[in-house]
Amino acid sequence: MVIGLEIHAQLQTHTKLFCGDSIAFGAAPNTHISPITLGHPGSLPKTNKVAVAYAIKMGLACNSTIKRDNYFARKNYFYPDLPKGYQISQHTTPICVGGFVTINTSAGQKKIELNRIHMEEDAGKSMHDLDEQFTCIDLNRAGTPLIEIVTEPCIHSSEEAFEYVSEVRRLVQWIGICDGNMEQGSLRCDANISIRLKGATTLGTKVEVKNLNSIRNVKKAIEFEVQRMIEIVEKGGIITQQTRSFDASDDTTFAIRDKEDANDYRYFADPDLAPFHLTELFIENIRKDLPALPLQMIQEFQESFGLTIYDANNLCADKATADYFLEVSKYSVHYKAIANWMLGPIKQQLNVSAKDFSTLLLLPQTLAELIAIVEEGKVNFSVASSKILPELMNGNISPLAIAEAMNLLQVSDTKELESWIDEALEGIPDKVAEYKKGKKGLIGLFVGEVKKISKGKADPKMVTALLQEKLK
Ligand code: ADP
Ligand code: MG
Repeated sequence: MVIGLEIHAQLQTHTKLFCGDSIAFGAAPNTHISPITLGHPGSLPKTNKVAVAYAIKMGLACNSTIKRDNYFARKNYFYPDLPKGYQISQHTTPICVGGFVTINTSAGQKKIELNRIHMEEDAGKSMHDLDEQFTCIDLNRAGTPLIEIVTEPCIHSSEEAFEYVSEVRRLVQWIGICDGNMEQGSLRCDANISIRLKGATTLGTKVEVKNLNSIRNVKKAIEFEVQRMIEIVEKGGIITQQTRSFDASDDTTFAIRDKEDANDYRYFADPDLAPFHLTELFIENIRKDLPALPLQMIQEFQESFGLTIYDANNLCADKATADYFLEVSKYSVHYKAIANWMLGPIKQQLNVSAKDFSTLLLLPQTLAELIAIVEEGKVNFSVASSKILPELMNGNISPLAIAEAMNLLQVSDTKELESWIDEALEGIPDKVAEYKKGKKGLIGLFVGEVKKISKGKADPKMVTALLQEKLK
């Protein structure tokens, strides 16, 4: 199979690509539509500099060449949700050329080559199901800045496609240019798919599958489509070049239109927008602001903190999580413990409230302190995670004070421990007898009993030592 992906990413600017209308999601229909968005005669668009900077940011993150001289072109076609009768896009001069995105697959690392990244404006939205008789049109989205990231036809499995879209999504979020929300349409993917015999050097006829609103659906659409094509070819049929749509209700695809060979969009340079030249300084300033990228960070987490690749990967799922780890690591050298806390109990609690590390009230230094008192044996882990952590998640900043107030501090006073041990052993004389006959594995059970009686306050290390001494 041969696959090329086109990803549209909505840029997280405040305003549209060519005017000051807001691009906020979810506003009442047709409330962000100035005469420029509507393309009224005499209105004059002006390029959004932040959007240009974001496109360059993505190009730099993908190792692309940034084109110094750029202009916008009009792509002419009629559609009800395209109020101007043309879309402003880049035609022969994409702002970023070439480059690659590195992905991890079960077969190792692979570089997915990019053809280009270009800028364009989004269209409005047609809704065919709101009214029985009419199609409703919301033009709020018209003019929203997009980049389109286009790969070479170099993807050869649905797994690679899945990993590539996941990585692009992580990247755009990581560098802060797009929220990556596929359900809301901030990230949209079209898959171009063809098949050929192994070893063939020319490409087969492709179909383009649209309407893929999740990464899983990209994978499923490819799997269905490749199977459909193979069956056609094996029966001696030929594949027609088509645009198809994915039906998420049964994971199939269906044809929307046969594709004419050459669309005639009558491209020409938009006469209302000045061509723009990017200075070296403008690009260098963007490069300087670029954060360390995920793959770099994953490697650093393994090398500098001795974490496993599994932990490093999970901590770099998004930038907020990675940044949080780095913050905590300034206050604690128990790196493995930080990872365990973040990926275990803290993440569980965040999931319950559908939050993430960017909005976590628990301060990095407070987590470091919590880890410290567990490491010092002042409280045990299970008490710390089930009783103290929930309080800290609400913004409390003193784990030790909570432990004291809730009477959770571990007891290492020998007298108190011994009275608990006696109580525990009295309750299970038969087990004690078995232990004395040589069933040494029972020690764990005894420690557990003491823990129960002490309500988690008995220091397990000391209890073990005392038990061993007592039962000799
Ligand atoms: P179009 O003009 O139809 O949009 P492009 O040549 O611009 O086609 O390519 C669009 C996307 O389709 C790119 O990602 C490209 O890699 C991919 N592509 C082109 N030809 C094929 C093919 N035969 N099989 C699979 N993907 C292809
Ligand atoms: Mg296309």
